[in-house]
Amino acid sequence: MPVIVQKFGGTSVADAARIRRAAQRIADARRAGFDVVVVASAMGPTTDELISLAEEVSPVPDRRELDMMLATGEQVSVGLLALALREVGCAASSLTGGQAGIRTDGVHGRARITRIECGRLERMISRGETPVVAGFQGTSDDGEITTLGRGGSDTTAVAIAAALRVADAGGYCEIYTDVDGVYTADPRLVRGAVKLPRISYEEMLELATLGAGVMHARAVLFGEKYGVPIHVRHSQRPDHGTMISRENPGMEELAVVGCALKEDLGRVSIRQIKNALGLQGRLFTALASSNIVVDDIMQTEHGSSTMIAFTVDHADLSDAKQIVAKTLLDLNEGEMSIDVGLAKVSVVGVGMKIHAGVASRMFRALGEVGVAIHNITTSEIKISCIIDAASGQRALETVHSAFGLGLGINATVAMQTDSPRL
Ligand code: ADP
Ligand code: ASP
Ligand code: MG
Repeated sequence: MPVIVQKFGGTSVADAARIRRAAQRIADARRAGFDVVVVASAMGPTTDELISLAEEVSPVPDRRELDMMLATGEQVSVGLLALALREVGCAASSLTGGQAGIRTDGVHGRARITRIECGRLERMISRGETPVVAGFQGTSDDGEITTLGRGGSDTTAVAIAAALRVADAGGYCEIYTDVDGVYTADPRLVRGAVKLPRISYEEMLELATLGAGVMHARAVLFGEKYGVPIHVRHSQRPDHGTMISRENPGMEELAVVGCALKEDLGRVSIRQIKNALGLQGRLFTALASSNIVVDDIMQTEHGSSTMIAFTVDHADLSDAKQIVAKTLLDLNEGEMSIDVGLAKVSVVGVGMKIHAGVASRMFRALGEVGVAIHNITTSEIKISCIIDAASGQRALETVHSAFGLGLGINATVAMQTDSPRL
């Protein structure tokens, strides 16, 4: 029988009534002839509440102890969901991430899945039992409980679907959430955003990395690498969601399929430093060794001195500052300054590979509404501008309308085709 992995996000298991509804959906899939593996997030705002509680006791909580606490959130929901499933006559048992065989590296707070030992899940499925797995967590090789970073339950679900090779037998992964699919922009921020019936892994990965919180970026990576179709659906109105897959017919017609805003960025700038051979390697190795994910990097040269700046999430800013300060002390040169309150607005689309004029259209639109651009980065399928966070919402709405994203796919195609190739 094909296996479906069904993942229920925090809103979808926020109270007893919703847990019963989720159980009903799982039972329906089983009645329709599928084996089901369930992955659940913590109930509603539980993870935020646990973090606040930890911060009341310790302003900068130790990441190992925080993982120990946060992992309990998902355990409550899977226990409840397994109870609800038994009430509707479905054989089901809850499992922690570790019990489900999810092995990670030892980086607390942002661990990466290294492998999934599927034996227990496979045995449960073969005896007709539904595993209900706690999302967002795993165990390291030395038995430590780890978490995968905020929003990580999506990654648990897609990684399990990949490890069980569900796609080989016609299975897939369903992400049940509080929105009925992937939109051209976050529908909470842009009123005219439009739902996309399909999107490619490549585009979804860029959007997720650039701030579209509807999917955890690493989940999309697993989906792409192992060919797992991912269906994003509303937990109460699941009819027409968004399918994320390799094929996205006709979408190359569109230069841009969506836009995203990443807030809470800070910038570390280093000036008055000689561009000695190996400088960049030394600096960024020190940051990587502390697991700091650097966003954009900028470098300019003025005579013999150079300026290097990079952006990071606000959450990593104080660690990044300490590491850079230490490196500059060791080098005995350079001055550091910090900016906070930055954001990044981006447009994404595989069609950019063949359509010209995307960058000029974006920059003109931002200029016309008075949004200053501090830095620009591009790849084959995205253009990003660093801006002041205070202009974030305006910038997102502006680029959304500049590319006609609120007009629906057909209208957008027409607009792109008619537009001059600048
Ligand atoms: P869950 O708890 O189910 O994992 P999340 O809050 O992580 O839910 O993700 C759903 C939210 O993602 C939506 O409520 C929406 O505000 C946000 N979001 C951001 N960008 C997009 C987008 N492009 N399309 C749809 N939703 C988006
Ligand atoms: N509960 C975790 C969070 O709030 C993981 C998840 O919801 O995916 O980030
Ligand atoms: Mg999520």
